[in-house]
Order: sequence, then C-alpha cells, then structure tokens
Amino acid sequence: AASLEIKGLAYAYPDGTQALYGVDVTIGRGERVALLGPNGAGKTTLVLHLNGILYGGLGSVHVGGLAVDPKDKQGLREIRRRVGIVFQDPDDQLFMPTVREDVAFGPANLGVRGAELDRRVAGALSRVGMQDVADRPPQHLSFGQRRRVAVATVLAMEPEILVLDEPSSNLDPASRRELAEILLGLDVTVLMVTHDLPYAAELCPRSLILSGGVIVADGPTLELLSDE
Ligand code: ADP
Ligand code: ADP
Repeated sequence: AASLEIKGLAYAYPDGTQALYGVDVTIGRGERVALLGPNGAGKTTLVLHLNGILYGGLGSVHVGGLAVDPKDKQGLREIRRRVGIVFQDPDDQLFMPTVREDVAFGPANLGVRGAELDRRVAGALSRVGMQDVADRPPQHLSFGQRRRVAVATVLAMEPEILVLDEPSSNLDPASRRELAEILLGLDVTVLMVTHDLPYAAELCPRSLILSGGVIVADGPTLELLSDE
C-alpha cells in the first residue's frame, strides 16, 4: 500500500469556510514530498486530516492502507502512530524533564517497555544526532536542537509518514543545514509543509502546490519552481 492515499477530500469548517475541494494525492513509500502554497491555501487543514484531528467532510484518507476513521477508536490509535507530525514550534512537543523522557513518551504510551524502548530512544536520538544530550532538559537546548529532538520524538514511534510543518523556520544557516542532512538521511516517507522553496528543492524531489483548497500542481519540484 502507498504511505498516503487521499481521495476526493473536501472539507468545510463549521462556519462554512470551504477549505478543501476534492483533493487527490498518493505518496509512495519512501518518497519525500513538499506541500507548497500561499497562506490560506488549506495546507494545515489537509495535514490535520491525516491523523483524524479534522474529519467529517467528503472523501477518504488511507495511511499504509489503513483508513483514517474517527469512529474506529483502535484504528485511530494506529493512525496516530503511523502519522508522525512535527509541529512548527518544538516547544509544543517537548514537555518532559529530559530529552530521553520526551523521546520515550510516545512509544511508552503505546506499551513499549524495557530494552525495546531503550532501542527506540537511542535509535531516534542518534538519527538526529542528539544522543549526547539525552539527559539534559529540553529547555536547555538551542532552538535548532529542540527541533531535532521534536523530530526524534516522532521517529521513536516508527511512523509510516513523517509530516513536518515549516521545518526550516527560525533556524540559523548551520542548523538549517544540519536538519537538511538529517532529513535526507532518513528512510521514511516525508511530507513537508513549507514556504522555503530552496529547502523544498533540496529535500523533496516532488512537490504539491495547494491553492484555494485545490491541488493546482503535482510534479518534480525543480520543474514546478522553474515554472513560477
Ligand atoms: P494554510 O495552512 O495553507 O495557511 P489553512 O488550512 O490554515 O491554510 O486554511 C484554509 C482556509 O480555511 C482559509 O480560508 C482559512 O481562513 C480557513 N480556516 C482555517 N482554520 C479555520 C477555522 N478553524 N475556522 C474557519 N475557517 C478556518
Ligand atoms: P499556518 O500558516 O500554519 O497554516 P494559519 O495562520 O493558517 O497557520 O492558521 C493558524 C491557526 O488559525 C490554525 O489553527 C487555523 O485553524 C486557525 N485559523 C485560520 N484561519 C481561521 C479562520 N478564518 N477562522 C478561525 N480560525 C482560523
């Protein structure tokens, strides 16, 4: 099954604002895809459908072949494991006394224990180069380091798809570079919401452009950006 399959997704907010109109997207395993588009295009609305935070419109979303169905509580738990969302502000995601506890929190909550939990935490921290700060409080780290730990908290869940909201925002050039290398080294499916076109071009072979709730372009990033 594809990592992500969205068919005919349409959604209006309770106040009547139609945010998505019949969105179709399929993302294969291991692809890295940028989701581009102006403010108000519907990017956040789309992302919030991937793990069932928003629902109730038309169409369907499948993650690794499993339907996102908010009525199926057990299925939704599995969907939330499969869809790892890294929010724009890492401080929304880090709330434990140490980095290690933050990274362990998600898998521990799923019942992972003991040596398997240690393996998950060590693996996720080493993939983002943060193993040396495992015992420090997240608040003592730089912003760029906190963003990398936020990525590790999601990787520790072993997601089907890693969704990042503006991953390069507020990073200095060195941190931006480090995060790019980390993301390029992962073997997971990535969907990245960004306004940073050079970052999209470097990291994502494919881009989607969403505008007015419609996918207006879907293709190789370099071709789409040269058409602008
Ligand atoms: P983007 O993430 O691309 O900036 P959004 O998904 O946030 O776009 O917004 C898409 C549209 O839905 C916009 O017209 C926005 O104003 C509207 N919208 C977003 N959130 C809400 C909400 N909670 N209630 C009503 N309208 C909303
Ligand atoms: P982003 O740039 O990350 O897409 P937005 O500025 O679109 O963020 O939205 C920030 C928050 O405001 C979101 O939670 C969104 O749901 C909410 N929001 C956006 N537009 C509206 C709206 N017209 N009415 C109510 N809430 C909105």
